[in-house]
Amino acid sequence: MKNNNLKDLVKTNTEFSLDNSSKMITSADIYWQKCLDIIKDNITSQVFNTWFKPISAIKYENHVLTVKVPSQFFCEWIEEHYYPLLQKTILKIMGDTAKLEYQVVIDDNHESLQQRTMKLPAFRNPPPSNQNQLPFAVSNPVVQDFPSYLNNRYTFNNFINGDSNQLAYSAAMAVADNPGKTRYNPLFIYGGSGLGKTHLAQAIGNYIINKNKNLRLLYTTSERFTVEYINAIQNNKANDFIAFYRSIDVLIIDDIQFFAGKEKTMDNFFHTFNSLHQESKQIILTSDRSLKDLKDIDDRLISRFQWGLVADIQMPDLEMRMAITQKKSADEGLTLPYEIIEYIAKNVSTSIRVIEGTLIKLLASTTLDNRELNLNLVKEIIHGTTSIEAKPLTIDEIKRNVSVYYNISNEIIESKSRKHEIALARQMAIYLTKQLTTLSLKTIGSYFGNRDHTTILHSCQTIENYLVTDKNVKKDFETLFEKLKTYQS
Ligand code: ADP
Ligand code: MG
Repeated sequence: MKNNNLKDLVKTNTEFSLDNSSKMITSADIYWQKCLDIIKDNITSQVFNTWFKPISAIKYENHVLTVKVPSQFFCEWIEEHYYPLLQKTILKIMGDTAKLEYQVVIDDNHESLQQRTMKLPAFRNPPPSNQNQLPFAVSNPVVQDFPSYLNNRYTFNNFINGDSNQLAYSAAMAVADNPGKTRYNPLFIYGGSGLGKTHLAQAIGNYIINKNKNLRLLYTTSERFTVEYINAIQNNKANDFIAFYRSIDVLIIDDIQFFAGKEKTMDNFFHTFNSLHQESKQIILTSDRSLKDLKDIDDRLISRFQWGLVADIQMPDLEMRMAITQKKSADEGLTLPYEIIEYIAKNVSTSIRVIEGTLIKLLASTTLDNRELNLNLVKEIIHGTTSIEAKPLTIDEIKRNVSVYYNISNEIIESKSRKHEIALARQMAIYLTKQLTTLSLKTIGSYFGNRDHTTILHSCQTIENYLVTDKNVKKDFETLFEKLKTYQS
């Protein structure tokens, strides 16, 4: 790139002033136009027109290019699907100190221009710094600082509804529109693993919080709630814990089956539930089994759960699985012929998570391993006989997979950087090595920048903690672990 020097661009900029009726072209416009030129060459024109054309530059200041996007959904989508392309392009055009910032400008009636700025230092939405702490531990009575622990990936927009989840979906929408004011309180969603309970529960949360930033909304899991309650007792803070949970406006607790057998925690939750319910605060719960199959859960709680709406999510039928396969593959930029979509939908009938996993493998095989996309490849992937993945498992393969997954080069992963993203990728690679090989801590250390065995042990413990407290890291681990398990060990 010849002209990526800001001074040159600003100079050029003065030569670009147009007649009075037109807007002056700024350095931000020029930078963004150059980015668009590159982006355009790397994606289809349809994708470009849908996602990139509507974006315009606002300003460029202190190495930060601010662009205007029409909705929050837009940033999420771009972030999720075009992050690597965007990152590479920005760095190429503006140098490696450059940052991109989105400004969501919802221009609904021209009079009230709502503006919200979403900062994306280093591009990817960093996990909130408090993400790994427990909610009560970091809470602050000031509403603005209240962490919701939601993952903005889960929205109604990208939730596919159909017969198998219609009731749960409709109730979720109603609750999201009017938290605490419908008859669906609590809303109790249950269904098998990977069928969308967490997605739906978080979609409610994201919807509510986007509409009303002042609400105290908390997403947590029964495990997190339990750990936190035990900590509170140990630290003589049980009363503060109780007060904290009773001050919440919308409480979402995922996977409540893990309350089973935890008498004291359940007792505490029972009183919290009553207090919130009495004040018409919305409660949303999920469980991997129905009320009658919930073992070792206090009967008083079970009867409370029946007060509201109990909605199940079933495995989608064939047609819906086809729709899901089609939509998810299109989202990943994969165009699948009808027979492949049908084959996947017919043969993957355990969960939507597994459909997603199949598509990810398919994408990896065709893009990373250059396999031809055909029915045979799909069969290999689904029936677990794919030859590309039967490669021997080596530390290098583990490192390569982690590096691709987090989009961080292996050199950086092994460096001494303590930056959260980098440290996480490093700890994940170490933990996976420990899980998947029989190597000693000392040997593993020698493969990871000659680190000593206590560092390796610490990395493993850190990831283990995350697995309990951080759904995103848990998902990272599960995805990588699934992929690596298919190698020959
Ligand atoms: P559960 O909590 O029931 O185990 P999740 O909500 O974690 O399942 O869903 C597993 C994966 O499948 C997630 O990536 C989620 O986004 C996706 N998924 C589940 N149901 C749907 C749906 N109806 N539409 C789109 N994606 C879905
Ligand atoms: Mg879940």
